[in-house]
Amino acid sequence: MAGKRDYYEVLEVTREADDDTIKKSYRRLALQHHPDRNHGNKEVEVQFRECAEAFEVLRDPEKRARYDRYGHAGLEGMNMPNFGDADSVMDVFGDLLGGLFGAGGGRRGGRAAGGRDLQVAVELDLIEAAKGVTKTIHLRREEGCGDCAGSGAKPGTKPSPCRRCGGRGAVLMGQGFFRIQQTCPGCGGRGAVITDPCPKCHGAGRIEVTQDVPVNIPAGIDNGMTIRHDGYGDLGSRGGPPGDLYVVVKVRKHPLFGRDGLDLHCDVPITFSQAALGGPIEAPTLDGTFVTHTLKRGVQTASEVRIHALGMPNVGRDGRNDGRKGDLVLHLNVVTPRKLTKRQEELLRELGEIDGVHVSAEHKSFLDKVKAFFVPAEESSGERRGSSPPSGPPG
Ligand SMILES: [Zn+2]
Ligand SMILES: [Zn+2]
Repeated sequence: MAGKRDYYEVLEVTREADDDTIKKSYRRLALQHHPDRNHGNKEVEVQFRECAEAFEVLRDPEKRARYDRYGHAGLEGMNMPNFGDADSVMDVFGDLLGGLFGAGGGRRGGRAAGGRDLQVAVELDLIEAAKGVTKTIHLRREEGCGDCAGSGAKPGTKPSPCRRCGGRGAVLMGQGFFRIQQTCPGCGGRGAVITDPCPKCHGAGRIEVTQDVPVNIPAGIDNGMTIRHDGYGDLGSRGGPPGDLYVVVKVRKHPLFGRDGLDLHCDVPITFSQAALGGPIEAPTLDGTFVTHTLKRGVQTASEVRIHALGMPNVGRDGRNDGRKGDLVLHLNVVTPRKLTKRQEELLRELGEIDGVHVSAEHKSFLDKVKAFFVPAEESSGERRGSSPPSGPPG
């Protein structure tokens, strides 16, 4: 009994935890450490066994009371199922789990369990995401062994009846009044054991294969979305259904277009004269063509233009496009020229002179606001101080 972990610690509950809390915690841990989800991982198998043992004690009021008073030593000599047999314990507790989960314990043939789900990531560029694409995924998954048809027995041989249960698949455990029927630990409930294992799968009945799986990715898919491929996970055990394949989509950033929901966003630089006079501009679209948009006169920098239905298509709940499309949003930036030709400079200087005489309406109202802000209210409401600068010290 040396080196045994505290049962409460194993089940991650406090010493005061009630039955329901213990049961819930066990259920969570058992699912997490369940051997069907952790193929051949010995460490997890040990944790699973530890959990099962801890639960067996803490759910029984008498055993729990003795454990609380005397620790592990208090349980010596009590009726405990055989936890030492590493191969059989899975099936014993598999049944215990079956009972917990309402699947019915002690039935003949062992529990059927669904195969493990698999997850892979696939990377697309934005154009692929917009148009939809088929990607081939190289997948390693478990399948039934073809040589033995999944039985695990060498072709031409048959599993022999289990001696421990006489082929019944179940045994009686316990003593006194409490005798419960458990799945046979010798054969895992199958009633038979493999004496001559299949050379290809070494008796497992399953082999790992590498497979190319085409995955259809619908147009409009967004970064982080997941596509489920039913039945492409690992093989189930004992007739259980196979797991599913989850394909997580990662969309690479595009140098020109950003995505927000269904809308695409694009920065478009325009010149001051375009902004002032309006007129046609060419804007890029995701498929590489250009769309012409006619600017109104007097466009301000950082303003937006929305072009209908040139964004991303929408993926509906059923994974298909429902016809909805986002917009293309152009972010207009008025760019001030850094280098001027002689002629440009002449024209701008001329423009500057005219600007000085004809102050635009906006600029005038701005100057008025500035004055109102710096000049105290009573003064500004009475007599305006003409054009004196706002920065002058009082007096
Ligand atoms: Zn085989
Ligand atoms: Zn048996």
